[in-house]
Amino acid sequence: MDTPATPQEPGAFLRRLPTGERLPLPADSVTAWDTFPFEGDFRVKRLRPPVLPEPDRAGEGGPEECRTCLKPVTQALWADDHWRLDEVGTESRLPAVVMLQPRGHHDLSDLPAERAAELGPLLQRVERAVLALDGVARVHVNRWGDGAAHLHFWLLARPAGLVQLRGSFLPVWEELLPPVPEEERREAHRRIAAALAADGGTAHALTR
Ligand SMILES: [Zn+2]
Repeated sequence: MDTPATPQEPGAFLRRLPTGERLPLPADSVTAWDTFPFEGDFRVKRLRPPVLPEPDRAGEGGPEECRTCLKPVTQALWADDHWRLDEVGTESRLPAVVMLQPRGHHDLSDLPAERAAELGPLLQRVERAVLALDGVARVHVNRWGDGAAHLHFWLLARPAGLVQLRGSFLPVWEELLPPVPEEERREAHRRIAAALAADGGTAHALTR
């Protein structure tokens, strides 16, 4: 894979930071947001020194050591020739949490042009499939990419009515809510897979 190397030495941004010190917590910072999941007194952690060069992400060495590439496509919820949609973990605390990934071992910056052109319409298809579940107000699409080198988009369903869960703290709330019953989780997966397969590909979630 041909992705730009991370810097080897701290640049101006890092040299400017008060490494080792505790940053101040402004009164109007995130802890004051209506959507912040916690209450009480907070302080910011001390800023750790940078780690350069950064450690490899999972699968950085290539497809033969990538968990996505090694996972049989039949274990996906849905797949076509170039993309797959997978469940995340073995439980869910939202109406749905799914992961859209190319089948080829690419990150975003080296995604082939044909795949990149498919991405917009495909994200729309997955969002529509998740929105069609009962009680879903919004689908948040997230791409971080710090943990694994294989491109993966998280799609998280925000429950309708839970305005306290709006925005960027949804992944944190997802850790705190009670788990969705297993059969309900599987039914959501079957419905998402069937909705996608209606426009192409195979709904593997329906065959197990
Ligand atoms: Zn891979």
